Amino acid sequence: MRRLVTCAALGVLLVIAGASAQPAFAPAFAQSFGVAGQAAPDLILSNGKIVTVDERFTIAQAVAIRSERIIAVGTNQDIARLAGPATQRIDLRGRTVIPGLIDNHMHLLRAAATWTVELRWDGVYSRKQAIDLLRARARAAGPGQWVFNIGGWATAQFADDPKPFTREELDRIAPDNPVALQESYYQVFLNSRGLEAFGIREGAPDPEDFLKGTIQRDAAGRPTGIIRGDIAATRPVAARLPKVPAAQLEASAKALVADMNRVGLTSFGVAGCNDDVLDIMKRWRTRHELNVRLFCIGGAAAGSPEQVDRSIETIAKMKLYEGDEYIDDVVFGESVYTPLHDRMFAVDSDYSPDQLAQWRRMAMAIAQAGLPLHVHANLTDTVDQFLDQVEAVNKVYPVRNLRWALAHLNQVNASHLERMKKLGMYAAVHPWGVINAGIFHEAFGDAAANDLSPFDAIQKSGIAWGFGSDGSAANQYIPMTALHYAVTGKLASGRKVIRQTISREDALIAYTRKNAYFVFHEDDLGSIQPGKAADMVVLDRDYLTVSADDIKDIKPVQTFVGGRIVYNAEAVAGSR
Ligand SMILES: [Zn+2]
Repeated sequence: MRRLVTCAALGVLLVIAGASAQPAFAPAFAQSFGVAGQAAPDLILSNGKIVTVDERFTIAQAVAIRSERIIAVGTNQDIARLAGPATQRIDLRGRTVIPGLIDNHMHLLRAAATWTVELRWDGVYSRKQAIDLLRARARAAGPGQWVFNIGGWATAQFADDPKPFTREELDRIAPDNPVALQESYYQVFLNSRGLEAFGIREGAPDPEDFLKGTIQRDAAGRPTGIIRGDIAATRPVAARLPKVPAAQLEASAKALVADMNRVGLTSFGVAGCNDDVLDIMKRWRTRHELNVRLFCIGGAAAGSPEQVDRSIETIAKMKLYEGDEYIDDVVFGESVYTPLHDRMFAVDSDYSPDQLAQWRRMAMAIAQAGLPLHVHANLTDTVDQFLDQVEAVNKVYPVRNLRWALAHLNQVNASHLERMKKLGMYAAVHPWGVINAGIFHEAFGDAAANDLSPFDAIQKSGIAWGFGSDGSAANQYIPMTALHYAVTGKLASGRKVIRQTISREDALIAYTRKNAYFVFHEDDLGSIQPGKAADMVVLDRDYLTVSADDIKDIKPVQTFVGGRIVYNAEAVAGSR
């Protein structure tokens, strides 16, 4: 069920708030307005700096929670008055609380397939530490076992020494294990055992599934250990690496969710909700043990003109918003017509009129069905060409109220933003530069790379925009690292890589309240306000006053989802 509401900040928006779809929501919301005779809160947090991220960016001291929802926000005295005999209390001791962080685009469920067997380097900003972790992993895995990662990091994140890895170095670190280290979607570093495992040898032809010219060799024809050439070059490597055994998938998914909560993430726009992991999380949901909210971006993309015919039939029948405030299908994406999928390190695009006509046929069907859209678009020319198509579609089926979003947008410019605003479109901004900016400077040159992403232009345009990572391979997933990038223009290593920055307030709004629109739950999520879900993060330092360079080092102390503590650093420390 859908209804239209007016929102002062963002104009008229399509809001999905069917009472039948969200039975848990209506009672708590209604009661939050009844002061007299109101049931006492289950939990009160007080003596804090509550950064509500409401429309006026109000700072409060205390918050009261009942039945998963925030029922009141205010001064310590105001909130203390609400307490009943059974109310639990947490003394924040001056700590800062922000809303639960929302990543509007992450390939979250896909990551479960490798999470516990991967060596993740998110948040590791020293090469020495990365090597220590690699060595420890090799030792724990035992001789002959793979040690690998699939993206989420780049050498430029290392403050001490951002140099690439060599085959010989990896042989010394892990002589008894095959090693494959995938730097974002840019290149893979293999050691000798890794090369051997893939059948890449001196004097032998390249394995057939590797893209021609991507296996680097020295003048004598000896493989250097580097596979390079954008995402298509890295795919054959990832395809051959081990996956979590089926019997351990649930444990891997659990570790993944715990890592998300540990960095303050509570909700996701999930690009591709893989059925196997989704089924596990649906079971957790029925047991009230699901510690993140999953809003799926999915639908039948087409890869050829014939497939467009079939996809158009499924689009007409596509059903959204049949889930609840924890798991739901909310938007078509992230691909429409797969031949028009910008590669991550491509400098420009040149799609043909025939291909764009197929893209338009798909978009026309999506608009006709009244569906929202969230589509991968990154390069300058692609964004222009997609907007040409959307403008044509808009003349037949207006898209203004459908929340159509272009996603990634590293190369978005002022003219794109104007056109998007005229169409009522949103900008889903996924700054790949958070880890990839070093590669961008090499690939695009300094002048172009300095504006990836152009945060100041995006913010000043007034477009509705929200933050996402596009992790866990294209990017790292830690929000504080991304916020630090947007506020300082620096990599975690300290290297200044972009010139357009924004205020820490605007960056936080884009990771919380604005993102609630991208997951179609702005009535439930994104700020600490009465009626909304009690998704909150207690921080170890004050996001609003620490030096900008220190934002990347801020750590959650506690993370709440629906009023439940899903991460508690003090409990973790205490149990050691
Ligand atoms: Zn994408």
